[in-house]
Amino acid sequence: NTPGGPKAKEEKIVVTVRLRPLNKKEQLAKEQLAWDCVDDHTIAFKPSHSRTSNSTDLFHKVFGPSSVTEAVYEDGVKNVALSALMGINATIFAYGQTSSGKTYTMRGITEKAVNDIYQHILNSPERDFTIRISGLEIYNENVRDLLNSESGRNLKLLDDPEKGTVVEKLVEETASNDQHLRHLIGICEAQRQVGETALNDTSSRSHQIIRLTIESTLRENSDCVRSFVASLNLVDLAGSERASQTHADGARLREGCHINLSLMTLTTVIRKLSVGKRSGHIPYRDSKLTRILQHSLGGNARTAIICTLSPALSHFEQSRNTLYFATRAK
Ligand code: ADP
Ligand code: MG
Repeated sequence: NTPGGPKAKEEKIVVTVRLRPLNKKEQLAKEQLAWDCVDDHTIAFKPSHSRTSNSTDLFHKVFGPSSVTEAVYEDGVKNVALSALMGINATIFAYGQTSSGKTYTMRGITEKAVNDIYQHILNSPERDFTIRISGLEIYNENVRDLLNSESGRNLKLLDDPEKGTVVEKLVEETASNDQHLRHLIGICEAQRQVGETALNDTSSRSHQIIRLTIESTLRENSDCVRSFVASLNLVDLAGSERASQTHADGARLREGCHINLSLMTLTTVIRKLSVGKRSGHIPYRDSKLTRILQHSLGGNARTAIICTLSPALSHFEQSRNTLYFATRAK
């Protein structure tokens, strides 16, 4: 893969890496920095910490601790998000260990994507748009509706001959305008946090998907395509430490296993997609997360993966695992 450049525009899977700044606690603890952003496409383990030579990999883009979410969005992610306006399914997700900045990054990305979608609508008076939203959380392979806190629990997945996998009884709201859409996104985010306090840090163990389905039709006959429909999936994944948690036991293991299932199946699916045609069977059906995202991963769909890293030396092992995933996803 050529990092950056015009080719990146058409790539099916764009992989970027984002390093967050040291937080207050890490600063007070005088944590050392583990990584160097060598250039826009390269991240390397700091030479002063290692006597062996660094293995470096080229990514679409590497964002250092001082970069803002806007830059992360503009370079690589935006094109993927906007393809959903043209009838191409798109998925954007943040992958990384707990506290590496996934939620922080996805919230900013979501906000910017919503702004751009409505800007595009303003600029396209020849088309009529409908935007629908649904939000769900997958915790222990149970699907919970983030727009229906009353009864939206343990939802079933059904196979629809036309639509593919659908989540039974999942509430889908039509947004009347951008403010309304932001309001509904806010409900999903707040709902996920409610679960968090009740169940002690569910966000590190659960996956959240906000799905915007964008439909547009042409008002009058012209050469343009008459109608488009596609979804943009904004995914905040469980902490990636769950994918490598092999030493847990008992209840912890069972719980870990479920999370491993969706996260590990996702990593397998992404790796196979990045290998391309010769990768053989792609195990979408092995987990809830990959079943739900099946039509928005692979095929004609476009994907942006933002791999988030803690800069601290004490998190080096997890950061290295994240980069290993990032390398194989390209
Ligand atoms: P995760 O969702 O991966 O567990 P969070 O997004 O909750 O991590 O981030 C952990 C903490 O670090 C939060 O307090 C968040 O505000 C802060 N943070 C994360 N990324 C950044 C960043 N790029 N710049 C500044 N603060 C950040
Ligand atoms: Mg989070």
